[in-house]
Amino acid sequence: MTSFRTACRGDLRWGAKRQRSMKLLRFSSADKTSFGILEGDVVREISGSPFGPFDATADGCPLDEVMLLAPVEPSKVIGVGLNYIDHAKELKMAIPQNPILFMKPPTSVIGPGDAIVYPKMSEQVDYEAELVVVIKDKTKDVSVEEAASHILGYTCGNDVTARDLQRKDGQWTRSKSFDTFSPLGPWIETDLDPLDVQVEMLLNGNVVQSSSTSNMIFNVFELVSFVSQIMTLLPGDVIMTGTPPGVGPVQPGDTTEVRIQGIGTLTNQVVSS
Ligand code: MG
Repeated sequence: MTSFRTACRGDLRWGAKRQRSMKLLRFSSADKTSFGILEGDVVREISGSPFGPFDATADGCPLDEVMLLAPVEPSKVIGVGLNYIDHAKELKMAIPQNPILFMKPPTSVIGPGDAIVYPKMSEQVDYEAELVVVIKDKTKDVSVEEAASHILGYTCGNDVTARDLQRKDGQWTRSKSFDTFSPLGPWIETDLDPLDVQVEMLLNGNVVQSSSTSNMIFNVFELVSFVSQIMTLLPGDVIMTGTPPGVGPVQPGDTTEVRIQGIGTLTNQVVSS
């Protein structure tokens, strides 16, 4: 049987063509939730949707005066297991022939600065720094070459996982699905070459994960194409593209920072339930 990998390999640099650089965000200010764009340190509210044509207001307010929210409210969060060659080697596991997919519920999504709540059911909760793809429009059965035109941009994500429950259950739903287990943000960068960016996790300020997306087994365009052949992707849906080597446990009181070159840093603190 032909593997997905063999079937869809092509000139993937095509997908890395540049588009206008923008940082799209969602924020709350004066009891109102809005979409905005970040220009320097100034947030400008937009009228319309970030998924379609929009205008930015002339007035802006300083970034530190708004509360940032998760940049999208996805209908689904798709995860990819074991997608870095260096992580597969670290775990002494075989390279998958096809992307290994799982799902996390939309209710697990939180934004920058929100707390990751350590569930009572678990005794080992791990961080996983990941590059996250945000889908732009209704996407079904697209080729690898078409995938880039269906991507709105990229953000940082932490695929928080109750490792003990993942091992115990033999499948991943419980371990990946707790409320607060999908931090996303701080914003969506529309102009990024996702084939070679550095993805890092800082735990309490110390770098514990650091690898390039060039070490991915299935790159973002292959993932979007593959997932779209299974389920219809909707605007705002996200694909968490897998984690590099160095995953490890967190404890209440810890601070996690997912830092991705060209995007920014997503910071969250772990609290006990
Ligand atoms: Mg993961």
